[in-house]
Amino acid sequence: MRIIRPTQPPITEFSGILELFPYPAAILDLYGVIVMTNQKWQQFACLKGLQVSQWVGANYLNLLKQQDKNAAILPQDAHLQLDQVIEQKVDMTKYSYTCKNNGCGHFYEMVTKRFQCECHDYLIVSHQQKENRDELINSQQRLAIAADAAQIGIWDYDLKHDLLIWDEWLYRIYGIDSSTTQAVYETWENGVHPEDLPQAIQDFQRAITTGENFNSQFRIIRGDGEIRHIEASAKVIKDNQGKSTRIIGSNIDITDRVASNHTIEQLSHYDPLTKLPNRQSLEQKLLHGFTSLDKPGFFAALLLIDIDHFKEVNDIHGHPVGDQVLISVAKRLKANIGSEDYICRFSADEFVIFVPHISDSINTTKQYSQVFADNIQHSFRQSLLTNQGRFKLTLSIGVTLFNEARSNTDELLQQADLALYQAKKSGRNSVSFFAETMLDCMLEKKQMMSDLEYACRHHQFELHYQGQFSQQHGLIGAETLLRWHHKSKGMISPDQFVPLLEESGLIIPTGKWILEQACLQLGDWAKDDKFKNLTLSVNVSAVQLLDDQFCRDVKRLLALYHAPADKLKLEITEGIFIENIQATIAIMAELAEIGVTFSLDDFGTGFSSLSYLKSLPLSQLKIDKSFVTDILHDDNDVAIAATIVTLAKSLGLNVIAEGVELEQQQAVLKKIGCECYQGFLYHKPCRIDEFKQLVNHSLPAHANMQRA
Ligand code: C2E
Ligand code: CA
Ligand code: CA
Repeated sequence: MRIIRPTQPPITEFSGILELFPYPAAILDLYGVIVMTNQKWQQFACLKGLQVSQWVGANYLNLLKQQDKNAAILPQDAHLQLDQVIEQKVDMTKYSYTCKNNGCGHFYEMVTKRFQCECHDYLIVSHQQKENRDELINSQQRLAIAADAAQIGIWDYDLKHDLLIWDEWLYRIYGIDSSTTQAVYETWENGVHPEDLPQAIQDFQRAITTGENFNSQFRIIRGDGEIRHIEASAKVIKDNQGKSTRIIGSNIDITDRVASNHTIEQLSHYDPLTKLPNRQSLEQKLLHGFTSLDKPGFFAALLLIDIDHFKEVNDIHGHPVGDQVLISVAKRLKANIGSEDYICRFSADEFVIFVPHISDSINTTKQYSQVFADNIQHSFRQSLLTNQGRFKLTLSIGVTLFNEARSNTDELLQQADLALYQAKKSGRNSVSFFAETMLDCMLEKKQMMSDLEYACRHHQFELHYQGQFSQQHGLIGAETLLRWHHKSKGMISPDQFVPLLEESGLIIPTGKWILEQACLQLGDWAKDDKFKNLTLSVNVSAVQLLDDQFCRDVKRLLALYHAPADKLKLEITEGIFIENIQATIAIMAELAEIGVTFSLDDFGTGFSSLSYLKSLPLSQLKIDKSFVTDILHDDNDVAIAATIVTLAKSLGLNVIAEGVELEQQQAVLKKIGCECYQGFLYHKPCRIDEFKQLVNHSLPAHANMQRA
């Protein structure tokens, strides 16, 4: 259709009529160009979003078409209404929309009508605010039903007239009886928890002044005194001038959600048993702890605390009791720390305490930390009381001091761990501070580990033999003792490397090799009259004995080398029972059945729980050499050795003393009833060929016995 644009200026007398319009209104030519507007049009907040400085002369049709889709102020199809009238498809259109400019949200109706004046066609366009009460009521009802179903409390606050309306659910949420109380603004203020009120008011005021949405979380104290958590949100409604006039919002009771969030938080950052923070939270604390310190250069301390022999509590009394003990330990530790200090359960029986900004002097920090750690230890002098009884525990503590933020918390923990290792090594129940030399020790240990692996692969081990003698029969057997010929360090004592073999698991292949050598020897001896009655004692580590294949290996090797099982004696230490008493008994019983015997080594140094002794298929107790060493000077050691002998006899076990170096020692032992001995008095451990020579030429050393 061709549209002829009028050359005449339009009918100016319409301007007065246009001003009488109660709505924003404009007259357009058939191109969509605005020829005249009223004042309301100029001020119409919704249209201001279209950003036109001069309305008259602007092409309204194009403006509507060119609206950015994303930020459309009026609906995208608003221009179609104009098109329809321009193209004379209809005479008039009415088009309802919600204004999207700046969160206005009001309903409007755009009315477009064609008219003629002085033979020219024009359009009049107006935007009327819609007040269709029926629709409003319907939508309010819909909203009320939905809100009710969702248990959302709705409120509507007319700021101009200070009129507040609460729906029934909101009264219910706040625990207020709607039949007796009419909610006013103060009803809300009075309901909010006093601690949360200032923030809630601030959030509310900000929404009103900025026109932004109101979002806030606060606690309320209900009419019945119950505290609930509320999530509040609301939308601010503004008038044409952009002034906030009304605010409509909702309150949701989120107490359950808060509780479950709290539980999730607890689970991920807290130890469920002791309720202390866990290792994960420690790492965060150490990472951020320093940034929050307001005292630069000040030293802090990290204490790694380990309960000595905690495993025994679990093994002897069971895990439920162990748990109770851990709870008590946590409580006692917590009672020892200050409000700024931080404690967490680091692992099963390890706790970490972080003491921030102690002093800017390292010496003072060290002194303080020493006293702090000592106090913790002292506090455990008093036994712990649990439902299952009293427990007396000691603690080993490793401490490291530092005065700068560490991005790598592992480094600090490693230092504390090295210090703890030192504390354990120096007999437990002690405190050690990290020193750089410990790192050297650790590196040395690492080197030793790799050397040991090499030693295993390249057969650098050797077995030495040390005779065992009885008062009555002279030489009765021998003990095998492991030796390591290190390529550069020479001979290394098993005390130094057996623990490393155990730690690395290399004790399994090495132990198999030792057993094989012993069985080979026993098989050999069985064919020789001079040797066939000798027993051979082999030291067995806990890890080795508890290995799945241990029994099978022993049986296989005995059979392979035709070694008499009753000549094989396995020396175990009390530590073995601590690992797993039931499994140990089962393994021992299986081997005892085929004739293998067991000797309890280092007896008297461990926990010597007498209840074990009865249940184990033992044949011998071995008095530890530490008692023999001082037996001539220390009456206590005499008494202990005598007790062991009496105990052994009462249990029907034989008894042997190790580390016998002097005839006088042997004499005292004999006097208290111990008639079997092993030690340098007879000979030092030696190679098998030397041992055989000893047996063939100078032994049986009855002479020694007779001298005693
Ligand atoms: P242990 O089983 O208590 O062995 C006795 C230790 O005392 C041996 O030290 C032995 O050489 C030493 N000894 C013997 N008589 C005397 C004496 O009269 N005076 C003194 N001062 N010491 C004496 P060794 O050979 O250094 O072994 C140390 C520890 O290493 C052993 O203590 C044992 O626990 C472990 N060990 C040795 N061989 C093996 C083995 O084959 N397997 C395992 N698992 N551990 C072993
Ligand atoms: Ca031994
Ligand atoms: Ca021993």
